[in-house]
Amino acid sequence: MDRAKRNLIGLTALVWATGAASAEPHSTSPLPFALKQVAPGVYAAIDGPQHRAGSNAGFVIGDDGVLVVDSFFNLDAARALVAEIHRLTPKPIRDLVNTHYHLDHTGGDQALRDAGAVIIAHRNVRGWVRTENVHLLGPQITAEFKAQIAALPLPDVTTDKDLTVWLGSRKIVVRTVLGHTGGDLTVFVPDAKVLFTGDMLWRKIPPNLIDGSVKEWTATDADFEHMPDAAHTIFVPGHGDVANLKDVDDFRAYLLDLRRLVTDGRKAGLKGDALAQAVTPKLKALHPDWTISDRAAAAEVRYMDEESAGTKRRPMPQPD
Ligand SMILES: [Zn+2]
Repeated sequence: MDRAKRNLIGLTALVWATGAASAEPHSTSPLPFALKQVAPGVYAAIDGPQHRAGSNAGFVIGDDGVLVVDSFFNLDAARALVAEIHRLTPKPIRDLVNTHYHLDHTGGDQALRDAGAVIIAHRNVRGWVRTENVHLLGPQITAEFKAQIAALPLPDVTTDKDLTVWLGSRKIVVRTVLGHTGGDLTVFVPDAKVLFTGDMLWRKIPPNLIDGSVKEWTATDADFEHMPDAAHTIFVPGHGDVANLKDVDDFRAYLLDLRRLVTDGRKAGLKGDALAQAVTPKLKALHPDWTISDRAAAAEVRYMDEESAGTKRRPMPQPD
């Protein structure tokens, strides 16, 4: 791996990983994700080790149609997902739920729309998907990414409340939650006890806090832990492998550890690089089975510091 690519992958947003990978010749592996059936008719599509999909996605097959959760980072990965769905069922793809606006979850939306899906998202996603994604990718954004973002489809159905989608007799509960971006949805399949969390949950990987509120985020994760029958619920995270209640608790503990360590460092008068250098080894020691790069940790500390200081920039809701 060349240095430029390693630097890109080192950035907190996993979007960069796929961005770098997409410039390479196609891998020989058949799919950019691993498809895992987690319950009857419920599938998790877990991003592969090369991050060619950029995030996780999934889908639910009901009596009369299919609902998809998120569309990966790029059209190739989304088209591969559409092909897998068509291989498994003749039922039409009816709905796509975007858990939030980030490009690694919406980049393939057009492929799902082309396959017939109505795009459902939080109302803020409509105002953010073509604007805030430019900010998300930062100053190193390429002309190719700018064009991809400008061409993203806008959601067809938006909500800032909970809603129920029926796939025939199969009930899907879409919930509005707080924490990752200010426009987040989760997707719950009650009969299968499967919760697609979007980026409200990451498994053993530092989350991208760029738009987040750790205060709200940890409260939402506590709500997950208090769901009826949480111990028997399958959690499909936005990044990382299929998770269980213990993983939710571990993730929430990571966020609380980050906040506590940053608070301690701030009280000791530490700022900037010194704060990151003080917090990073402690955070790694508390979570030895996580993959935490120094660069990712430094970004986590910076965003947490901004939240604690009350100076954090978060996306602003736009009028319809
Ligand atoms: Zn995200």
